[in-house]
Amino acid sequence: MRILVLIAIGLLLYVIIGSLLRRNRTVPPKSIAGKMVKCKHCNLHILEQEALRLGDDYYCSKEHLESDK
Ligand SMILES: [Zn+2]
Repeated sequence: MRILVLIAIGLLLYVIIGSLLRRNRTVPPKSIAGKMVKCKHCNLHILEQEALRLGDDYYCSKEHLESDK
């Protein structure tokens, strides 16, 4: 019976340590290219290259660009 408890504890530690290691690995890579800009309408952050630009302002979608005109 005691061996089952030891196996259970071992599995628990394995799962906990595994999830901790995985969490450390999900740190965003610094190599993401492109500058982040903020949609003037909804404050959503988007990549500059994907944003719609109107003068000095950026928008996440055509709808938000149109609604702020
Ligand atoms: Zn928006």
